[in-house]
Amino acid sequence: MAYDIETKCIHIEKKENTCDSSGAISFPIYQTATFAHPSLGNSTGYDYGRVQNPTREQLEKIVANLEGGIDAVAFSSGMAAIDTVMQLFSPGDHLIIDDDLYGGSIRWFSFIGNKNGIEITRVNLWKESVEPYIRENTKAVFIETPTNPMMNVIDIEKISEITKKKELLLIVDNTFLSPYFQNPLKLGADIVVHSGTKYLGGHNDTLAGFVITGSEEIAEKIRFIIKTTGVGLAPFDSWLILRGIKTLSLRMERAQENALQIVKWLKERPEVVRVVYPGLADHPGHQIIKRQARGFGAMVTFEVSSKELVEQILQKIELIQYAESLGGVETLITFPITQTHADVPPEILEKNGINDRTLRLSVGIENSKDLIADLEQAFCH
Ligand SMILES: *Cc1c(COP(=O)(O)O)cnc(C)c1O
Repeated sequence: MAYDIETKCIHIEKKENTCDSSGAISFPIYQTATFAHPSLGNSTGYDYGRVQNPTREQLEKIVANLEGGIDAVAFSSGMAAIDTVMQLFSPGDHLIIDDDLYGGSIRWFSFIGNKNGIEITRVNLWKESVEPYIRENTKAVFIETPTNPMMNVIDIEKISEITKKKELLLIVDNTFLSPYFQNPLKLGADIVVHSGTKYLGGHNDTLAGFVITGSEEIAEKIRFIIKTTGVGLAPFDSWLILRGIKTLSLRMERAQENALQIVKWLKERPEVVRVVYPGLADHPGHQIIKRQARGFGAMVTFEVSSKELVEQILQKIELIQYAESLGGVETLITFPITQTHADVPPEILEKNGINDRTLRLSVGIENSKDLIADLEQAFCH
């Protein structure tokens, strides 16, 4: 029987690997570093915690199922997951990356990738085709959609037609929509990465990351790397993310509904010169996101009329908190230019339309009237 997505957040279809006989409804936390073997040549399936742990494995099965992959691997953070995917490449390999990526990913390419001989070309992939940038040594294309923080929408299927033809890997960071709203593997991606710290965990209390793939060969390589480098998610943190995912569907729906209310309010404000949300009909990616995703998410970027107003809003907000990160039950506001995008070169910021008047909201699941009332008082002198 194939479950629908809300059920998949809570149950895995085949339970043959349940190692607990107590009937516990909540999957146990296996807080152990190593596992005993019954006898010579016999194994319980577990050897050492760096390789695998039953709690982590349960989480990986849930996430693989949600993304429609054959395997998912859980990491200690989203950046650990991205770093592991990048270990698939060697010095001299070339990657095409989207211009508007998460600041930490840009930092990875600028400092670690660069030092390790990974060549990159940055392209605005929501506007331009990837094809003219492909070189003989190009190995992969790395994108996020919608992008952070400008919410550009990239047509995954269209890019995958080219990456398949040219035998390149298509890697999609699916953090912003979560598997509840979008499944890039089904649209032709080869690898999906997540910061599980965000919507999957959902409570701003745990860092985690995921790599999901539909390819046996890639899964095997990723598992070899995690076994070697030891960046797997700890048992207790795995349990926290498992618990978070149980309410993914409810949280995503509510956060999106709140985001729509806030977008409506922002559109009416004279101090707001621009509202960027892919659910708006005038957003350039609106038709694409409607086709490739089941929702628009709960990230809202907006530009106010002055730098002074930015300072005032960040000072006066009470319920909404001025903090980095996203995807949790609490509504957070960030000032990308000094926070998530502090290491991004100025010419890229300008090209992407991020300036000292740009603010980003990660809308949570509070009552939308309370959120709007807080914004209202923060906007007023
Ligand atoms: C947060 C984030 C990451 C990094 O994840 P961490 O869990 O913070 O390491 C990567 N990509 C996107 C889109 C993110 O929002």
